[in-house]
Amino acid sequence: MTKQLLLLPGDGIGPEVTGQVRRVLDALDLDIETGEALFGGAAIDAEGVPVSDETVARALAADAVLMGAVGGPKWANQPYDKRPEAGLLRLREAMNVYANLRPARCFSALADASSLKRELVEGLDIMFVRELVGGVYFGKPRGIEELPDGERRGLNTHQYTTSEIRRVARAAFDLAKGRSGRVCSVEKSNVMEAGLLWREEVQRLRDQEYPDIELSHMLADNCAMQLVKNPKQFDTILTDNLFGDMLSDEAAMLTGSLGLLPSAALGEPGKPGLYEPIHGSAPDIAGQGLANPAAAILSLAMAVRHSFGDERAAGRIERAVEAAIEGGTRTRDIGGEATTEQMGSAIVQSL
Ligand code: ATP
Ligand code: MG
Repeated sequence: MTKQLLLLPGDGIGPEVTGQVRRVLDALDLDIETGEALFGGAAIDAEGVPVSDETVARALAADAVLMGAVGGPKWANQPYDKRPEAGLLRLREAMNVYANLRPARCFSALADASSLKRELVEGLDIMFVRELVGGVYFGKPRGIEELPDGERRGLNTHQYTTSEIRRVARAAFDLAKGRSGRVCSVEKSNVMEAGLLWREEVQRLRDQEYPDIELSHMLADNCAMQLVKNPKQFDTILTDNLFGDMLSDEAAMLTGSLGLLPSAALGEPGKPGLYEPIHGSAPDIAGQGLANPAAAILSLAMAVRHSFGDERAAGRIERAVEAAIEGGTRTRDIGGEATTEQMGSAIVQSL
């Protein structure tokens, strides 16, 4: 059956990198129908809102949504609902994408660009599964309160329910089955109640339904340390919204470049996933043909794997990106002089 892909090029380098995604799609010749909509600042300028109701409806009706990047200085000081990032949060919420997949893979040809020594990162292949729609970023009560005697108090609530924990743990276990079967669950169960519940529920789900998964638990501070000490010990890391935010950024630096890292956000099985490169809109290089399109193209590979169920085509895209880099075509962020277009061409050639 024809799969529907909605492209949201967005702002800054977003349209440049999604342009290369289109070229890869054309070269692959899969049964995919592609639509496009304005998003972020581009949508604010044209439609008055960062994401229109119509775009949200089209996203929900698609099989997958691929976003380029949102934001930029032009919209930075606007009220919240006129900011590009508000569109992304609204879309994530509407799509209920609670499992954020962030691979940290080190391309052998680029291992010297890592923050660590080559021996420590060569062959590195970690998959983060970060809870994306709960925890301390969303928990209520929250706010800044006036206290008597002129003090003020900032308040956030770190909370998880069993069903929120179980659904993201399930996503991690299902994913790990297609990898090494090893999952490390990360929290602070020694000092946080939500962390203690997290550890218990993850272990319970493993014991009830996933006997073949090799599950370990680690405290988040130790995980931060282990990631720079011996990162190759990890395969799949399952963690909450807060720790996942930080630890996946830490791991990104082990792989060398922002321009190479894709991500996926998945909801209930069968519902559309939201895919995007982890980099931002890069206003400093936008419109100059300098952006590395690899992260966006690798995000397409994730969409093809997780939303279209085509492992073979996903692997083809990933190998083509790796081959292009190994063949020496590199944009400036990974130490070369190739343009966005030339990088795209090299990847299409390798396909
Ligand atoms: P955001 O707040 O939107 O996440 P950010 O402040 O984290 O943005 P990015 O937009 O990701 O920043 O850019 C950080 C730096 O990395 C910039 O110097 C940018 O030029 C560079 N960069 C980001 N993405 C790419 C890419 N695809 N190719 C080359 N350089 C990139
Ligand atoms: Mg950023």
